[in-house]
Amino acid sequence: TDSLALIKNSIKTIPNYPKEGILFRDVTSLLEDPQAYKLTIGLLAEQYKDQGFTKVVGTEARGFLFGAPLALELGIGFVPVRKPGKLPRETISESYELEYGHDVLEIHVDAITTDDKVLVIDDLLATGGTIEATVKLIRKLGGTVNDAAFVISLPDLGGEERLKAMDLNLLSLCEFE
Ligand code: 5GP
Repeated sequence: TDSLALIKNSIKTIPNYPKEGILFRDVTSLLEDPQAYKLTIGLLAEQYKDQGFTKVVGTEARGFLFGAPLALELGIGFVPVRKPGKLPRETISESYELEYGHDVLEIHVDAITTDDKVLVIDDLLATGGTIEATVKLIRKLGGTVNDAAFVISLPDLGGEERLKAMDLNLLSLCEFE
């Protein structure tokens, strides 16, 4: 549709960032375009309204930029998943593999209950490692999570298969090679 084309065209591609050979899809250019940003949140809200979701979880840092306005639009709470040491209350952690080494994500233990039906949001799906760790955190706390949404998916990197194997339904507004 026109809306999806407008959103996709608002995303700039930066060659060789952060490393030689990488084509970085830059969502800051989408955020600078108020029409594209509003359409992005509007399409996600349309997709997920009236389905009983109780929380939106977004992962540091670009997941906050889409997750928080979506939660407001849906009229439900927003829960941040963050890098270690950033959250002030009691947390649990999950470690995940990167290309070189590993990283850790944390969530507040009292932010999710067994009554929660959670929607997970990030800007971009690549290998799926970030969202796999995020979903594990939510499930450890007893929350139900079967849906994850992204502004961008890079289908060549295998994240879709990896997340579908965790019983997640996926939505991506646009795809890039
Ligand atoms: P994954 O864990 O799926 O391999 O990587 C996705 C994570 O890396 C997301 O949190 C995303 O913000 C970041 N990421 C990886 N590549 C890109 C990119 O080209 N553009 C943007 N905006 N984020 C990226």
